[in-house]
Amino acid sequence: MTHSTSHLLNADLHCHSVVSDGTLTPEDLAARAKANGVELWALTDHDEIGGQARALAAAHAQGMKYLTGVEISVTFIGHTVHIVGLGFDVNNAALAQGLRDTRGGRTQRAREMAEGLAKVGIPGAFEGALPYVGNPELISRTHFARFLVESGVCKDTNEVFRKYLTEGKPGYVAHRWATLRDAVTWITQAGGVAVVAHPARYKFTPNEEFALFTEFKGFGGQGVEVVTGSHSAAEYVSYAHTAREFGLAASRGSDFHSPAESHTELGTLPLLNSQLTPVWDLLGSRIQ
Ligand code: AMP
Ligand code: MN
Ligand code: MN
Ligand code: MN
Repeated sequence: MTHSTSHLLNADLHCHSVVSDGTLTPEDLAARAKANGVELWALTDHDEIGGQARALAAAHAQGMKYLTGVEISVTFIGHTVHIVGLGFDVNNAALAQGLRDTRGGRTQRAREMAEGLAKVGIPGAFEGALPYVGNPELISRTHFARFLVESGVCKDTNEVFRKYLTEGKPGYVAHRWATLRDAVTWITQAGGVAVVAHPARYKFTPNEEFALFTEFKGFGGQGVEVVTGSHSAAEYVSYAHTAREFGLAASRGSDFHSPAESHTELGTLPLLNSQLTPVWDLLGSRIQ
């Protein structure tokens, strides 16, 4: 791979397994990525690196290169932002402790979510969500969404989020996640690269978004997801511009969660354009 063609690599650096809120095992994800032509893969479970050893082994068994990955939940100016970490040392103690602290409180939050849902006539959501949870420390809104779909309250998870699980809705409970500074520092001090995940999802004003990227960069962040399952084609263009404006490398990842729910399949998004520095160019020595 030469520098000038590395943007043509089929890299998928964002997806979820049963270790967080995906429905497939790391092994099944690796097989699916390989079948779709992925050459460089990362599993990025929410706030959890417990699936990394399995993902690395599965990637190698499939003949794919691998980068370690995680997606950290952050609270920034009162909103939840996701920061993807790539290529870090999985044995870094400060990162592991930071992630443990970030996961803490999810169970209490889930109980409060269930109370909110009970008040609008949906009882038993905590117990209902539990069978969908693969990792007891990682009960997520996604697991509630699956329960509300399976029990017939909504037709799909999108409808659940829209009606029940987003800000201002009865099952929404604000949670205090990590700070932006902490998440970026944990990742970079563990030898990895921090990446702003799906920036178009946050609905920030231009000033807020400018603050996010300025602070992110100031803390040592180096990348932004340009091509992601959460972006439209127009957003690929606008965040390619953002990458260049802030001097950030670009990442590409499907954010695949489940064959039944994800509209974006592993490894099938458009490639990065040649004007961008791919984030994997910063991580040559970290690719396994
Ligand atoms: P949590 O970390 O518990 O707040 O849950 C966040 C997760 O919910 C995200 O990682 C997505 O998987 C999922 N999610 C968020 N918004 C939506 C949406 N509008 N439709 C479907 N899934 C969503
Ligand atoms: Mn998720
Ligand atoms: Mn995310
Ligand atoms: Mn994600």
